[in-house]
Amino acid sequence: MAELNHPTRWIAAKPEGLYCIPGGFYIDPVRPVERAVITHGHADHARAGHGAVLATPETVAIMKARFGEGGTSFQALPYGQTIGLGGVSLRLVPAGHVLGSAQVVLEYGGGRFVASGDYKRQPDPTCAPFEVVPCDVFVTEATFALPVFRHPAPEGEIARLLASLELFPERAHVVGAYALGKAQRLIALLRQAGWDRPVYLHGALQTLCSLYEAHGVPLGELRPVPPAARGSGGGLGGEVVLAPPSSLATAWARRLAEPLTAAASGWMRVRQRARQGGVELPLIISDHVDWPALNATIDEVGAPEVWITHGRDDALIHALAQRGIQGRALALIGLGEGEDEEPAAA
Ligand SMILES: [Zn+2]
Ligand SMILES: [Zn+2]
Repeated sequence: MAELNHPTRWIAAKPEGLYCIPGGFYIDPVRPVERAVITHGHADHARAGHGAVLATPETVAIMKARFGEGGTSFQALPYGQTIGLGGVSLRLVPAGHVLGSAQVVLEYGGGRFVASGDYKRQPDPTCAPFEVVPCDVFVTEATFALPVFRHPAPEGEIARLLASLELFPERAHVVGAYALGKAQRLIALLRQAGWDRPVYLHGALQTLCSLYEAHGVPLGELRPVPPAARGSGGGLGGEVVLAPPSSLATAWARRLAEPLTAAASGWMRVRQRARQGGVELPLIISDHVDWPALNATIDEVGAPEVWITHGRDDALIHALAQRGIQGRALALIGLGEGEDEEPAAA
């Protein structure tokens, strides 16, 4: 790779986000900009108010469902198709994080730059698996970049939920799950484990479940939580009820039959976080890479230089240095806030 073509020369880390200079666009900008490429639909990455947005068809659909079209012009680019922008070739490849989530692969003058957005390596029946793209600079998140974070197999966590349902058939099992990605993955994992009863949904989760189904992700029978269940005496004993994490400790959940609160998040590894959220049954199910998967991914893409957008960058930079990889902390403000990376709220 010629020094001239190194991505450091044509990608700038600005307060708004990563900016491709010859292409004239930002990746996941945190403020409204003229031209944005969006990795996925989570609120810290996909914001309203950009002039033009380029994303996968699924992410475009999610953005429109969440905040309408506004004045934004959307361009959908399916996985694997290449387009040129100001001499830069751009393609989107699966990141394995949520439906439509993509890594942005940029090539310019012989240098290749990959911005992975949020990603995971565990199999997920609701989205396309992460694809390894060798590159000169790899941009990663570091949400769970400490050796303590090792996510167990999700099947084992689902088995714990099913065991609890058997043990407490009179209690409604209310599972806190983010509306985009986690809720649908939980349902798909329950179906894989043989749970064929209806799954009950808080109203805030219904739109995105329908959107997933419209994009070919079957979720089985879903029902809104019936009004009767909210009256005196509660209801839905022995059933699975999915709700946003913020609703777990509210009157909404308390009206259900002896609600047993669970939450599915990588943060459930940290007992204190589970306790703060009043979570009885913490399920460690994450849509982000854990420490071993993060390091394995960096080794697989083979990038001599790794840029870290947000999260715990210190331990990662140290670990990379020991392997001769140069780490650079971007500490982008505004990423890592909100729905997919915050612990269950109290
Ligand atoms: Zn995300
Ligand atoms: Zn994120």
